[in-house]
Amino acid sequence: MNINKNYENLEQSYLFSTVAKKVSEFSSKNPDKKIIKLGIGDVTLPLCKKVIDAMHKAVDEMGVQATFRGYGPEQGYDFLRKAVQGYYKTHNVELDLDEIFISDGAKSDLGNILDLFNQDNTVLVPDPVYPVYVDTNIMAGRKVIFIDANGDNCFLPLPDKNVKADLIYICSPNNPTGAAYNREQLKAWVDYARGMGAIILFDAAYECFISDKEIPHSIYEIDGAKDCAIEFCSLSKMAGFTGTRCGYTIVPNALGKLNKMWLRRQTTKFNGVPYIVQRAAEAVFTEEGQKEIKENLNYYKENAKIISETLKKCNVWHVGGKYSPYIWLKCPNNMKSWEFFDYLLENAQVVGTPGSGFGNNGEGYFRLTSFGSKENTVEAMARFEKLFG
Ligand SMILES: *Cc1c(COP(=O)(O)O)cnc(C)c1O
Repeated sequence: MNINKNYENLEQSYLFSTVAKKVSEFSSKNPDKKIIKLGIGDVTLPLCKKVIDAMHKAVDEMGVQATFRGYGPEQGYDFLRKAVQGYYKTHNVELDLDEIFISDGAKSDLGNILDLFNQDNTVLVPDPVYPVYVDTNIMAGRKVIFIDANGDNCFLPLPDKNVKADLIYICSPNNPTGAAYNREQLKAWVDYARGMGAIILFDAAYECFISDKEIPHSIYEIDGAKDCAIEFCSLSKMAGFTGTRCGYTIVPNALGKLNKMWLRRQTTKFNGVPYIVQRAAEAVFTEEGQKEIKENLNYYKENAKIISETLKKCNVWHVGGKYSPYIWLKCPNNMKSWEFFDYLLENAQVVGTPGSGFGNNGEGYFRLTSFGSKENTVEAMARFEKLFG
């Protein structure tokens, strides 16, 4: 027996455990001080009514012989694939039903898609980034190269024609930075990928936060993208499905074999998302469902605005917030990420996430999220203003 030695090349991630440890140490020393957590990377508002109603109904169906369901199609029920197809139409993207694959979330698909690609492919990943892209490729023994996202390019790096890559990760709006590419910038990536015969793996997990016509929701809004891109999306941030689990991946037929290979991969290694969850997901795409999830998204976006406006008042450089639940700020007074974490915890009892945990270029930056309550966000920002205003 030989183990997969590539696992030894993974960097230990102490980010969230170190945050938790520092917070618990502080609170045991200062039991009277109220800590506000703006480091949360998970939704906090409950599922909307339309979703819950659909789930209840599906649960009842499962208890009746005539409507009981066993194994479903591995790639998802047609009712949900049609709902996703209709959703893409609202962004002027036409998809065939067999290009849409329902899954238990974007994270699994982002990892699993690598089954389709040879180990000798070179992978291009922006730095800083969602750690899943790097770690899944390290596990498979693939070579990862980085492209710098930094203050100079407002954390939206553009392709460099001198860099050769086969697989390219793009996350827009971005986690952790909240920065989102406009049409022209995405076009540059599509042209670059097509010119090289590379595939873009486009993570659209935060597309639902976009409310500006200049910012595409889907990479397929760009001409030529169906020839070079696979898109991943999820109901996690869109509709609070982080614990319910449902997402979808688009593999265009224009990518040739890849569409059938992904179908083969899923039918071999995956047995589908629960019927009950797919009915809940279908409800998200109804008119009422969309209205209800927008209310929740607007709640988070309002928090993001409160954070962003406070940072502006304090002259703190930042991106994000406008099209995402994340605000990415440059630590005041040139502090390092962890130094700022400690300072903020000690002096304002506000917790965020050190940017250095997302890559080398994250050093000196800090992530705040809008997933907290409005009351806590307002109070945290009042404390912030006292320190830096
Ligand atoms: C939250 C998140 C996802 C969604 O993952 P799920 O597995 O669908 O919950 C995907 N990509 C990024 C960058 C995320 O932050």
